[in-house]
This record gives sequence, C-alpha cells and structure tokens, in this order.
Amino acid sequence: MLPFSYEKVTSEQDAVERGRGGHVTFIAGGTTLIDLMKLNVQTPAALVDINDLPVNRIDSLADGSMRIGALVRNSDLAHDPRIVADFPVLSQALLSGASAQLRNMATTGGNLMQRTRCYYFRDTIYPCNKRQPGSGCAAIDGYNRIHAILGGSDRCIATHPSDMAVALVALDAAVHIRGNTGERVVPITEFHLLPGETPDHETVVSPGELVTCVVLPKRPFAARSAYVKLRDRASYEFALASAAAALELNGGTIRTARLALGGVATKPWRAVEAERLLTDAPANDATFRRAADQALVGAVPRRDNAYKIELAKRAIVRALRQAAETGTIPRHLDQTGASS
Ligand code: SF4
Repeated sequence: MLPFSYEKVTSEQDAVERGRGGHVTFIAGGTTLIDLMKLNVQTPAALVDINDLPVNRIDSLADGSMRIGALVRNSDLAHDPRIVADFPVLSQALLSGASAQLRNMATTGGNLMQRTRCYYFRDTIYPCNKRQPGSGCAAIDGYNRIHAILGGSDRCIATHPSDMAVALVALDAAVHIRGNTGERVVPITEFHLLPGETPDHETVVSPGELVTCVVLPKRPFAARSAYVKLRDRASYEFALASAAAALELNGGTIRTARLALGGVATKPWRAVEAERLLTDAPANDATFRRAADQALVGAVPRRDNAYKIELAKRAIVRALRQAAETGTIPRHLDQTGASS
C-alpha cells in the first residue's frame, strides 16, 4: 500500500471543501476501498474520512417517501421495520449481499459507489481499461464466466456488483449528490454509467462530490416486491444473476411493474420493455416467462457466460412470482395442491 494522508471531517461543508479540485478520496465503511488500496488498484494520495457526517439517519418524510442517509449501514437499513414492511425488495437485496460483518460496516453511499469484482480489474498484472484507460481488456477474450451479457462495450464487460442498487432501480430511487456548487438529484437509473469508450467513468459523481442520501418515493408497487439472487454459494458471494421485481396488482392483473437485473449487466439494469409487457397482463407464470424472455433480448454472451441468459430468466420469473405472492401464502407452503 502506498503512503497517503488522512483526515476526518464532521460537516458536509467541510467535506465538499476538502473535495474541491477532486484531489481527495472519501472513505466511509472502506469495505471496497481498503481492499483495492492493498492491491494497488486504487492509490489515493489523500483520504478524507466522512464517518462523522450527520447523514446516518433513516427518515420518514411527510409525503410518505423515505430518506436514507449516505452513512446508514447496510445492516441497519436491511433491518429497519419500515424498509422490511414497505420496501421488502431492498431489505432482501441488502441481506443477500456480502457477510454480516461487512454489512455492519458498509454504507448506503459506499454500496452505490462500489467497484466491479472483475478479477482482471483487481490484479494489476493484467490489462484493464477500467483501471488503466487504454491498456485493453483482459476479460473480453479471457475467462469471462462472471462478466456482463447486457450493457457491455468493446472496452469493458465488467458487471456492477451491487445488490442494493438493483433494488433501488426497482423502487424509482433518487440519489442526492453534493458538491461545491450545491446539491443535485439524480434518478438511480442515471447514476451509474455504461462503460462505452470510458469504462473508468462509472457514475455521474464527479471527483470531490459527495453522495449525501438516497430517497425512496412512495410508490404503489413498492410493498409488493422481492429480490432473487443466484450465485455460486449461498452466502458471501456476488450475483451471477439477480432480479428485483415490484408489482402493483388489481386483482389478478398487473397494473404497474418494475423489473431490474443484477449480475448480468454493466450497471444496475432496468428492464423497461419487460415492464411494458407485464403491464395490464395477468399475474401468472406465463406472463412472467414472457417478460423474462423480453428482458434478455439483446444479451451478448461471451465464451464462458452464455449460461447467464437462462439463469437470469429464471431469477426474473422467481422474483416476479415472489412479488406477486407478497402478503399471500407462498405456493410452496400452500396446502391446496397448487404446484410451486
Ligand atoms: Fe477491466 Fe472491464 Fe475488462 Fe474487467 S471487463 S478487465 S474491468 S476493462
């Protein structure tokens, strides 16, 4: 690890002033950053510790929305009774991520900003356009079993690793970002960037800017929502494919749908065309399978990851089914004889 300076700040104003010029790196939970510093993948000259900023609360707002401070720990957010009841997809996504110890440290803002788990990105002997622009991509013709089938470019096919952000996409969340010129609000679907020609630019956050909070709007589909994550082992593992689904039902018909994918795309991926197909359709497995097929139209498999297409479809069907069954007896527990 290379030498770096370290200082703490206690106000947002201090933080953004330190950030002026973009020469510092903010650290909160450090669950990604410290790893990458040890690997010399990230080599910040100056760390500014923001753990003492007063942005660590979960507030219910008058209009029914929820404001989640950037420093709210993943475990606190996952177990907040309001989140569990009214935004279950978010609680489920958080609890599917990392380990209990990591969730106790990891923050909401840090989760949004986390870097890819592409093994070539994390090993400095390999070319990687994300780590060193212009050096090439070792994954495109290399071992790419974990890589993206949606949203890739000829520069980078790394997946975004967050579960939480996938749930936030299904919930129409908005991210508040503060810089020297004030605060701006960015829809979560616009927060992360496609790799295109510049895979080193991963979010709309400019150097020196600070994520201060995430707002979950009150939406009629938020409470009927679910997250399904498929991975190589049952815990402490990143998604090979995941789906966040949220449904507003009118009887057995879908009035509004949200569907987002993780583990298969270069950013938390909203499946807009699949949502259209779900709208006004009956909430059954045939509809869910059609939506799953639609969501994977345009997928570009590589040598080792074609399996993700069917895997993602199965995650989608299960997530939609679980969302539809929220508040009812799950079919695998139903004693009437219906198959699960
Ligand atoms: Fe780097 Fe992206 Fe290629 Fe991985 S997929 S080696 S992160 S450029």
